Amino acid sequence: KKAKALKQPIAFYDQDDDKAQYRELLIINGLPKGLKQDQLFMVFQPKLDIKSGQCKQVEALIRWQHESLGLISPSEFIPLAEQTGMIDILSPWVLDNVLAQQAKWRNMGIYVNVALNLSSTDLDNPNLAVDVGTKLSQYLVPAESITIEITESALMISLEQTIMTLNQLRDIGVKLAIDDFGTGHSSLAYLRHLPVDEVKIDKAFLDEFETSKAAKQIVKTSIDLAKNLGFEVTVEGVESKSVLETLHLFGVDTIQGDYFAKPFTASEFEHIYPQLNYSQLNHPQIKHP
Ligand code: C2E
Ligand code: MG
Ligand code: MG
Ligand code: MG
Repeated sequence: KKAKALKQPIAFYDQDDDKAQYRELLIINGLPKGLKQDQLFMVFQPKLDIKSGQCKQVEALIRWQHESLGLISPSEFIPLAEQTGMIDILSPWVLDNVLAQQAKWRNMGIYVNVALNLSSTDLDNPNLAVDVGTKLSQYLVPAESITIEITESALMISLEQTIMTLNQLRDIGVKLAIDDFGTGHSSLAYLRHLPVDEVKIDKAFLDEFETSKAAKQIVKTSIDLAKNLGFEVTVEGVESKSVLETLHLFGVDTIQGDYFAKPFTASEFEHIYPQLNYSQLNHPQIKHP
């Protein structure tokens, strides 16, 4: 009986599975070297403050120009870094990079808040706030000039430790935002327990925005509730002027998306900054230099 069972194939050999696993290995094993050889870098996506028409903040997004795989998306390598623990070297690198950039920009007279993304595992570190505080003083960057974005799903993992860490970060003056709101199956009412300044509504909610009245109503209701709870509201993934204008009517504070501006490299951003630094009530699009 046993011999017969052994003859049954356990799974079909799948070349694509092999390729995917090989790619994952290349990514995971290549990360330390990638960091050492400057294959990783940050890009910065300007956010538009709808009411003033100004850009007061950019979001720092990581990119990896891999030596053999080409440009890899963070949606691919961040989850792998989280699964393997590599995020513990990646997140400090992001923090250093963003703070060094901030220090440089402030010296150039570019005063813009920079938002960066952290992972749920970073929030499990009880020393996070102390580490962040130490780095802020090291780079002479005021705490108010950075925002830390945490995904809603990260909060679901260990809420108590997370809230403690968020409170400590807030105490040192760092701004906090809940990212990808609406994707983590938590209710808006639960938000009121979180010590955060801003809620970023996930771009998935805009998918049916222009074709479905119900989808539009859900966005409007979420915005109203978040605003009534005292949060600043950002909607991400805004790709057209008509969506931007509807969101303006809905009372959204800030929008982020390819319509206003795509992510820029640091030097591109320095180049377009003068264009961003005045009132833009007609909501123009910012193009790459
Ligand atoms: P996120 O934090 O929600 O960032 C917004 C994502 O939406 C970015 O994708 C941005 O390029 C994209 N986006 C912005 N506007 C538009 C638009 O109008 N249309 C479309 N289709 N997309 C738009 P990106 O840069 O690929 O990053 C994906 C995710 O990877 C981020 O989502 C974030 O969760 C994660 N990530 C990126 N950089 C970092 C990092 O430095 N550390 C960590 N832990 N995660 C990061
Ligand atoms: Mg984000
Ligand atoms: Mg987001
Ligand atoms: Mg997202």
